[in-house]
Amino acid sequence: MPTSEPVARPGILDIETYVPGESKAPGGIKVAKLSSNETPLGPSPAAIAAFTAAAAELERYPDGQAALLRKAIAHRYGLDAGRIVCGAGSDELLGLLARAYLGPGDEAIYTAHGFLVYRIAILTNGATPVVAPERDLRTDVDAILARVTDRTRVVFIANPNNPTGTYIPFEEVRRLRVRLRGDILLVLDAAYAEYVSRNDYEAGIELVATTSNTVMMRTFSKIFGLAALRIGWAYCPSGVADVLNRIRGPFNLSAPAIASGAAAIADIEHMERAKRHNDEWLPWVASELQKLGLAVTPSVANFVLFHFGERKGKSAAVADDFLRAQGILLRKVGAYGFPNALRMTIGSENDNKRAIAALAQYLEGTD
Ligand code: PMP
Repeated sequence: MPTSEPVARPGILDIETYVPGESKAPGGIKVAKLSSNETPLGPSPAAIAAFTAAAAELERYPDGQAALLRKAIAHRYGLDAGRIVCGAGSDELLGLLARAYLGPGDEAIYTAHGFLVYRIAILTNGATPVVAPERDLRTDVDAILARVTDRTRVVFIANPNNPTGTYIPFEEVRRLRVRLRGDILLVLDAAYAEYVSRNDYEAGIELVATTSNTVMMRTFSKIFGLAALRIGWAYCPSGVADVLNRIRGPFNLSAPAIASGAAAIADIEHMERAKRHNDEWLPWVASELQKLGLAVTPSVANFVLFHFGERKGKSAAVADDFLRAQGILLRKVGAYGFPNALRMTIGSENDNKRAIAALAQYLEGTD
């Protein structure tokens, strides 16, 4: 029997709509937005100037190859520009990879507390999500390998992961790649790579350079402060770059995004300033949270996940409401499997102090 309404393909209605970090607080209150891992330093002034200059030519289509931006990225990291594909945020690129490599009957693996867009991308294409448990809230390579079947086509890992902030060393990533079948695409999502200072960490460039089945994803939304412009990039084996270029929108990046991204990545000093700010405030926030008796997951990124545990009468949900009433916006992470934890982005000195003081106030209060 034909229905009287269009019917979405199988899998689509299993998707839970992605709920972004909050941006609004009760009227009149100055907002401390610590909900989406944005940088408190904002973008490079050079990126803002490039954006403004691009306003003079809005009637023109952008360069469909985003050549200026790909060249700037290639120059900065010593890469082959021909193997860089840019997208409207790494979100778009994750969707394109799933569209190209996944369909009904295929399986794709991600980790228990992995970034939620992987699940959305998998289900959108009618494929089956397979969840690998983590160990100590970290990606567990053996658990992933144990879930590989003949149908596995893609493995997604965020390294460092959001919302946990944890990472796995390069040796572990390499071990995963070596043990995975060659026809399984390994997607290394390194959205927070620039924040990591660990000798045993590598974002993935080396594996992309030396294998034909690994992709590394990066973004301008975090340390470069251009989340509003939606710019992501993937470094790919040439075959994968060719596939993505066939299916992406012909003008998937706007001209202001191309110009601003190219300017941002060239401003190394600005990026380093943002990194130094994080290096100073991440340990401060983590230790203040611990002093409040909250369990903090060790993070190498620009946010921390903290847990309320069994504290009588205290919970993440009520703490979040309490902070929001003061204009302090953190991220609830129930959808990531943490019903009693919150994620806090490292903000400005003032916002960090406001958030810690408000949490202390909440935890000291009587029920
Ligand atoms: N990957 C991870 C792990 C993220 O946390 C995010 C942003 N929340 C993204 C990808 C998407 O970033 P964007 O689309 O802004 O580039």
